[in-house]
Formats: sequence, C-alpha cells, structure tokens
Amino acid sequence: MYDVIILGSGPAGFTAAIYAQRFGYKTAVIAGRKWGGQLMLTTDVENYPGFAKIMGPELMQKMRDQVLGLGVEIIDKDFTKLDVNKRPFTVTAEDQSLETKTIIAATGADTRWLGVPNEEKLRGHGVSSCAPCDAFFFKGKSVAVVGGGDSAMEEAQVIAKFSPDVVLIHRRDRFRAQKAMVDKVKAMKNIRFLFNTRVVEMQGEEKLTGLVLESEGKRWVLPRDGVFVAIGLDPNTQKFSGLELDSHGYVKRYEEKEETGVMKYFTKTNIPGIFTAGDIHDNRYKQAVTAAAFGCMAALDVQKWLSENDPS
Ligand code: NAP
Repeated sequence: MYDVIILGSGPAGFTAAIYAQRFGYKTAVIAGRKWGGQLMLTTDVENYPGFAKIMGPELMQKMRDQVLGLGVEIIDKDFTKLDVNKRPFTVTAEDQSLETKTIIAATGADTRWLGVPNEEKLRGHGVSSCAPCDAFFFKGKSVAVVGGGDSAMEEAQVIAKFSPDVVLIHRRDRFRAQKAMVDKVKAMKNIRFLFNTRVVEMQGEEKLTGLVLESEGKRWVLPRDGVFVAIGLDPNTQKFSGLELDSHGYVKRYEEKEETGVMKYFTKTNIPGIFTAGDIHDNRYKQAVTAAAFGCMAALDVQKWLSENDPS
C-alpha cells in the first residue's frame, strides 16, 4: 500500500514526489513510457530559476535523478486506469496494479492540433508539433509555424536554424508570446509573418505539399514542405473518469479554506484523497516553474489530508 501515487513525471509530478518522499511517505511515480513531459520536447530553457540556460531534457533528467536519489519508486509504464470510486484507490499501469491512499494527478497536457482536413493523415509526413524532434528533417526546405504564443516563437527559432524559409502564421494581428521571445524571432532574417491568417486545410498525399490559407475572406495555397503546429495544449484527463473537469476540460480544483479564511487545500479535486498539480488543472500559467510549485502544494495538501484522514 502506497501513501501517495503520483501520476505524471513532468516538473509537477517530480516536485510532488520530492516533497512526499521527504515527508516519509511511501511514494511512487507512474512516469509513463515517454517520461518527463513537455520539457522533453523543448530546447533551451532560460526561465527556470537557478539555471541561466539549460536544455529541457537535461533539466528533467536532473529532476528524475533527484527523485530517484531520494528513494522514490519510478515506474516507467503508462498509467492505464484509475478507479476513483473506492478507497484505497487502485491504479493500473499496464500490467501492474497498485493500491494507494492518495493520488496526485499530474499528467500534464499535450499538443493541440488544428483539426483541419489532412492534418492527421500527414502527421509525421511534413506535419509536426515538435521542432526539437523534427526540425533537422527540414534542412533547406520551406516550413510554416502556426500559432502566436511562446511555443510558436520557440518552434520558429529552432526551425529557422535549418530552414531558409520559415513563415509564421498567426490568426490575430498581435502575438500572445512574451516580448523577449518575439524579439528573438523578429531578429531572424529567414522568418516572415502572416497575421490575421488561418490554415483551413493541409494538402498532400504521401507528404505535405502546401497549406490552404484564409485571410479576409480570401483563400490561397502556400506551398510548404513542413508545418509545425504550436497552438497550445489540451490537458491529459482522458483516463480520469469521475474527476470533475472545468468548462475548458481541465481538472477542476476545489479550494478549501479554514474558517479564518486561510487556505486549507488548494489542489483538492472533487474526489477526497485525489489532488492535482500542473498543466492538467492549470489553464493560465503553464510554466515549468509554476508546475513545480503546484507539485509542491499538492504534496503539502496530501500531507495535511493524510494527517486528518489517515493518521496511522
Ligand atoms: P498559448 O500561450 O495558449 O498560445 C497558443 C497560440 O495559438 C495563441 O497565439 C492562439 O491564438 C493560437 N491558437 C490557439 N488555437 C488556435 C487555432 N485553433 N487556430 C489558430 N491559432 C490558434 O500556448 P503555447 O504557446 O503552447 O504556450 C503554452 C504555455 O506554455 C504558455 O503559458 C507559455 O507561456 C508556456 N511556454 C513557455 C515557454 C518559455 O517560457 N520558454 C515556452 C513555451 C511555452 P490567440 O493568441 O489568438 O489566442
């Protein structure tokens, strides 16, 4: 019987594990076969305190090493099922079944796709969402990036090191991304911008050949060898039937305050004993450092909850 099982191995999950283990709890992380979360798909991280510049995968490896060093069990299998109706909870990770008093749901979020014709068919054949993984394949080729947030800026910078012709397509006339990141992209001579423009279709049979674009009621085809979709994220909540979600599909938190107004629980969900941390519930901040902080809060909430509900 575990005291706490953490589902997810991004900054939220690993930080929760560090705290839970140091509280003396029997702790396991179900990390998933592709452990580490979104930072595994990024390049330079320059806004995580303590590291002026570090590669995303290196930062996650350091967190994982720290967690393992503390003696936490990390299970590199995909979490497949959770029965929320019965306590202690039973968590299934592929062929393994585990019992636990509490859960921290920290499975993060994944790429949002445009949902336009041929996008799904051409994924891996010119359509990608991960520049650090795939930019190399577009050396010397023409590429587009779709989106106006930090991810789009980051993707564009990576791709522009390989492609001589990058077009950044954004649906509005203003970027959502941080100014510092936009400035870096603007400084790159091989990136041009298309504002107020939407991708309405992708073209190609075996591989991508072009994008059908629409702006101010006009449609045209932009020939492209590759497109990187960077339009945000969708939370990974599919395997949590019974957990209440908000109107955007993120796990809903049930903050609880003491009579004095002091926060009692920040990361509680609708199911007693299940807490949440990171991008799976966070539709607003979505940073590595905020995910880590939410992980810490979830572990502190577990500690409080166990002390009140399972003092053994
Ligand atoms: P985001 O901030 O939500 O931005 C998504 C962008 O895609 C927006 O510009 C949005 O347009 C556009 N978009 C959304 N749906 C679209 C659709 N169906 N068609 C066309 N465009 C669409 O997402 P993100 O850039 O992935 O970033 C997610 C979070 O991670 C953010 O909090 C970001 O700060 C963080 N992040 C941080 C870093 C870093 O600091 N190094 C790097 C990457 C990501 P509108 O602007 O019109 O809404």
